[in-house]
Amino acid sequence: MNKDIPARADVMIAGGGFAGLALAIALRQGLGDAFTVVVADPALDHPIADARSSAIAAAARRLFSALGVWDEVVSHAQPILDMVISDSKLEDVVRPTFLTFAGEVAPGEPFAHMVENGRLLAALHGRAAADGIVLASDAVARFATGPDRVAVTLAGGASVETRLLVAADGARSALREQAGIGTVGWSYGQSAIVTTVAHERDHRGRAVEHFLPAGPFAILPLTGRRSSIVWTETTAEATRILALDDAGFHHELERRFGLSLGELSAVGRRGAFPLGLKVARSFIAERFALLGDAAHMIHPIAGQGLNLGLRDVAALAEAMVDAARLGLDCGGATVLERYQQWRRFDTLSMGLATDGINRLFSNRSDVLRLARDIGLGMVERLPALKELFIHEAAGITGEVPRLLKGEAL
Ligand SMILES: Cc1cc2nc3c(=O)[nH]c(=O)nc-3n(C[C@H](O)[C@H](O)[C@H](O)COP(=O)(O)OP(=O)(O)OC[C@H]3O[C@@H](n4cnc5c(N)ncnc54)[C@H](O)[C@@H]3O)c2cc1C
Repeated sequence: MNKDIPARADVMIAGGGFAGLALAIALRQGLGDAFTVVVADPALDHPIADARSSAIAAAARRLFSALGVWDEVVSHAQPILDMVISDSKLEDVVRPTFLTFAGEVAPGEPFAHMVENGRLLAALHGRAAADGIVLASDAVARFATGPDRVAVTLAGGASVETRLLVAADGARSALREQAGIGTVGWSYGQSAIVTTVAHERDHRGRAVEHFLPAGPFAILPLTGRRSSIVWTETTAEATRILALDDAGFHHELERRFGLSLGELSAVGRRGAFPLGLKVARSFIAERFALLGDAAHMIHPIAGQGLNLGLRDVAALAEAMVDAARLGLDCGGATVLERYQQWRRFDTLSMGLATDGINRLFSNRSDVLRLARDIGLGMVERLPALKELFIHEAAGITGEVPRLLKGEAL
């Protein structure tokens, strides 16, 4: 890791998660070696073990291909070939399928792939280092904004003057607070339990989502005979389940998973994530931009949080690269306004859509169950609507930035 932190940088990115590293790579590749990019994150040297895997939508996969990252993960990426949705109670012996989706956005192009978070982060890290991005294993402690520059101070004492500070420091962004940007949203009182299981039979690339009264229980295919589990419960119940011994945890898992893929065995660690909706009131301030979860945190019900963050990356990178090539200030107000306009509406619509789906399904009302089952049954019979949902989930509707089409900047 390059520890020589320059006193001046064109852009400083706080947060070396998926969003921060992807933006750094996009800018460096778009603007060349003379453009200095610094990424600061204490976790760069000590990655936090992540039990999660992510559904990478087609548009995000195109972005990773354009950045030269996808080749590093493709052998560990499981295409989602189809998806089935059931609406049932925990004690139901049979869980009838209400909705099915065949999984291609274009011939031979799956609408999403499943990849383990650790592998994807390692590939981004490797690409960033190879591209000459300065990787500083330190936190951004504070910043002071002047008319032309931002003076950024790291926790270890180093300081960097930059034209733009990008806060990609996650859902609990301290820099968002320092910038005085508030959020709107609420907690769902739910947590997602995550783990990885191995099973006897092949999943054949099928993703399954059982809408149970406590919330969705998703079985997402990984390479080999393995699946990633995202299992929503009330936070109190999630805490109880997580604390069970292996046999007790296995029992609860099997009650929900069923035996359609044969015997199950846990092969990954367990974790739980509190769920909420949180959207920043503004994505920008003077010489300051929020990116990824720092700008928005949504329910994982549709596997879209990271994908939204990568759409931020594509939009901000394109706005900055276009301005810099015209000799304009890439951290100036015009660039930031363009970024915000591109991203706010899409983020709010996705946030509200996931909120609505979660509220509709996470309850025990028989009346609501009947209503949603009629709704799902209608969608099942309307191929054009299904195709629209698939394209929306794949991230290829609306005004799509170049990277999300797989084009270089
Ligand atoms: C259970 C679950 C399942 C999910 N499944 C999916 C899915 O299938 N598909 C999908 O698209 N999304 C999914 N998501 C959402 C996805 O995981 C997040 O949207 C994504 O991880 C956010 O990435 P990020 O880079 O914005 O933030 P993070 O991954 O949170 O990275 C933030 C980084 O900032 C660093 N940092 C913090 N403070 C500072 C500081 N002061 N200075 C410097 N660095 C700092 C941290 O160390 C961290 O590395 C899921 C989420 C959950 C909870």
